[in-house]
Amino acid sequence: MRNPDILVIGGGIAGLSAAAALSEHAKVTVLEAEEQIGFHSSGRSATMLHYALGDRLIRALTFASRPFFDQPPAGFTDVPLGVKMPVLIHAREDERAQLDALEAELSSFAALKRLDSRGVHELCPLLKEDALHGIADLNGIHLDPHAMLQANLRQLRSGGGELHTGARAASVERGGGLWSVTTERGGTFAAPILINAAGAWADRVAELAGARPLGLEPKRRTIITFDAPRGTRLDHLPFAKTVGDELYFAPESGRLFASPMDEVPSEPVDAQPEEYEVALAAHRMEERTIVKVERIHSRWAGLRTFTPDRRPAVGFAPDAEGFFWLAGQGGAGLQTSPAMAAIATSLITGRSWLVASVSAKELDPGRFFQQAA
Ligand SMILES: Cc1cc2nc3c(=O)[nH]c(=O)nc-3n(C[C@H](O)[C@H](O)[C@H](O)COP(=O)(O)OP(=O)(O)OC[C@H]3O[C@@H](n4cnc5c(N)ncnc54)[C@H](O)[C@@H]3O)c2cc1C
Repeated sequence: MRNPDILVIGGGIAGLSAAAALSEHAKVTVLEAEEQIGFHSSGRSATMLHYALGDRLIRALTFASRPFFDQPPAGFTDVPLGVKMPVLIHAREDERAQLDALEAELSSFAALKRLDSRGVHELCPLLKEDALHGIADLNGIHLDPHAMLQANLRQLRSGGGELHTGARAASVERGGGLWSVTTERGGTFAAPILINAAGAWADRVAELAGARPLGLEPKRRTIITFDAPRGTRLDHLPFAKTVGDELYFAPESGRLFASPMDEVPSEPVDAQPEEYEVALAAHRMEERTIVKVERIHSRWAGLRTFTPDRRPAVGFAPDAEGFFWLAGQGGAGLQTSPAMAAIATSLITGRSWLVASVSAKELDPGRFFQQAA
């Protein structure tokens, strides 16, 4: 299928979920630069679905995605796309007002439980005594990105679509009503519609295509894993986050993982953890919990890519016919992917709009050009 209806650049969760949804209506081909899918951001995340991320729009996209995770469409997956994990947002006394404000913002999306110090420590005994206040969403989901990627790939293929790995788009040209993409290895593909789901590289892909970049900013985030104190009941622990963007931690494969919630500006690269943020993760863990991080078991980093207003860009480019943006998912690209795929499908096929709480205008990539004009 060298001449599909739609070409997608990027085999992360954004590209694959949109491709899977669109494959019900069109012939779709996905080009992924790496040898495997999800090699960059989609394979390096904290894998949570929770509402303490981003603004109202991100929360609305997450809320709209939630039913897909709770009850995936028939035949989509043989395994769960995630498992329930409580989410605890905790605060010291000096952070109480911030917690109150967050509770007000989150309460229309999740059934929250307000916790006093006792409730906080019952849910998460690892926190220090100064964690006096909390809000808990007992209905969070620890997502399984591998299951998500594989299920989307399977749906793409069962709809007659294709994935090409090791297929880095090296040139992108418009002519005769088609986007022609030539890969580094010399493969050529053409389609009237091109979806740019290249994550941290999405502005680079736009430049290749002669479309104006959005000003995307990839930001590095670091995660470490380490042993929990002996006797910790890991299966009962929540995903625990400070009310400010300082630290989160959660159980992970028999250990704990933690992030200092760093946002270090980066070029689009294969992100690697730096010593400073690794040490910061351990330091903040010891500052807010009773855990001693004696030995770091593993560490990794990934890029969270933001538009200038930190809201995703989904829609046709105003300056390049048939060039569709699906970028800027920031720190919520897994948990918002079902809604984003549904929105991309509505905008591309003209089918009915399923995400009532979000408008096309809010996501329109053209908003950045109007601001600059
Ligand atoms: C540490 C960390 C924690 C996170 N925690 C969460 C979380 O708890 N919940 C959540 O929902 N999200 C989380 N995220 C965010 C989430 O991982 C991202 O929003 C999401 O993975 C972005 O998906 P993507 O498909 O746009 O990007 P990617 O997965 O990076 O995919 C883009 C793909 O495009 C390919 N590509 C680039 N250029 C080309 C080219 N020229 N030709 C062909 N292919 C190309 C790349 O190789 C890459 O595979 C986290 C991210 C990080 C780093």
